[in-house]
Amino acid sequence: MAFSDLGFDTLKVRAGYDPKEHNYSVAVPVYQTASFDLGDTDRAARLFSFSEFGYLYTRVGNPTVDVLEKRVAALDGAASAIAVGSGMAAVTYSLFNVAEGGGRILTTAQVYGGTFDSFKKIYPNFNIEIDQVEDIDDLEQWRSKIRPDTKALFVESISNPNAAIADLEALAAIAHEHDIPLIVDNTFATPYLLNPIKYGADIVIYSATKALNGHGNAIAGLVLESGRFNWGNGKFPQFTAPVYMLRDAQGRGRSFIEAFGNAAFTTRIRINYLAYFGAALGPFDAYLALLGLETLSERVQKQVSNTEKIIRYLEAKKEVAWVLHPHAKDSKYGKLAQKYFPKGAGSVFTFGLRASEEQIKTFIDSAKIFSYHANVGDARSLIINAPKTTHGELTADEQLLAKISPETIRLSIGLEDAKDLIEDLERAFAGAFQSSSEEVA
Ligand SMILES: *Cc1c(COP(=O)(O)O)cnc(C)c1O
Repeated sequence: MAFSDLGFDTLKVRAGYDPKEHNYSVAVPVYQTASFDLGDTDRAARLFSFSEFGYLYTRVGNPTVDVLEKRVAALDGAASAIAVGSGMAAVTYSLFNVAEGGGRILTTAQVYGGTFDSFKKIYPNFNIEIDQVEDIDDLEQWRSKIRPDTKALFVESISNPNAAIADLEALAAIAHEHDIPLIVDNTFATPYLLNPIKYGADIVIYSATKALNGHGNAIAGLVLESGRFNWGNGKFPQFTAPVYMLRDAQGRGRSFIEAFGNAAFTTRIRINYLAYFGAALGPFDAYLALLGLETLSERVQKQVSNTEKIIRYLEAKKEVAWVLHPHAKDSKYGKLAQKYFPKGAGSVFTFGLRASEEQIKTFIDSAKIFSYHANVGDARSLIINAPKTTHGELTADEQLLAKISPETIRLSIGLEDAKDLIEDLERAFAGAFQSSSEEVA
């Protein structure tokens, strides 16, 4: 039975796991061990020369983590995946892997706050320069900003926090015209709403901390590769140079492409970055992510349905200046949403409150069901004043570039009853706007 014949919901509870290989355990066991016995010296020699596959040390591989990798790869139609200790590790390892030794990444300002910050603070110190298009929708700008040493285009499929949709098919075509990969952070969408590889993405990244797991109880990340990008096209010597560690039986060094074929990108992350930078995912956190995945479709469907109701509610409020979600009535992403997100365009979005800074504070403090914290995709609904928190490290100019205005509030819609969420927002409006009219009076 090939995984490729099975539907998404079957894969999300079955893929990557065969009970026969694990004492017929029905649930995926947690291999809570730091290292693995090598057996005998001959076997050790085979393992260390990569001529036999086996586990050595949990920093570079673990059977529980392996099931998570295979399962998410199956859900996204990827050739291979690697799980890492966080979404940030997934972003950084991917971009370092593509531009190691120096080069440029072309991206936008409309990305997760931590990603944006690291671009400014960390990458230049590693000889990687970040270029940003001002308008994510302007394909000509994307094309014109690619330079000879640009190594990849990087976007979020639905951006954090304003839910801009990247036109993946068009961006993949532009990247491929220039022999560079398109790297997509698909955290907000999850593989349930969108499979970027179908539209030409070469590398897909997840913060599994968010909706993929959905329970807000673990930090985790994943990197997936399509297996289709030609890393041997001359622009990426790190994949074609012979490596002594990968030597064949004759002692001749092999390149990552020779040794690992369509898993070259993720295996290079494993052997170089997990081994030496070390942001490994622990087996118990992998187990939690697997548990979360089992209900991915059911959760995301409910979240999307709740989100639609809350958008309609907010749009009817005179205190709401705007709502940024592809399904908001005046969204410029309606068409792209139809193409890329037929099952819904996610459950994280922003809206602007016509209010003073003080009123925005009261609004947030008055909500009792919405939790006030910096996460998304949780089973619980969340509210946050993004300009002061998740994107608070950005200067005023950078916030402008990232299109985060001071009146921005971000919501992540969870699994509660929509009516309770709406009543909670009603409470927040009453808190923020009654007290102000009393002040005026
Ligand atoms: C949260 C987030 C990250 C970082 O993930 P962590 O698991 O918190 O390290 C990266 N990208 C996006 C879009 C995110 O929302």
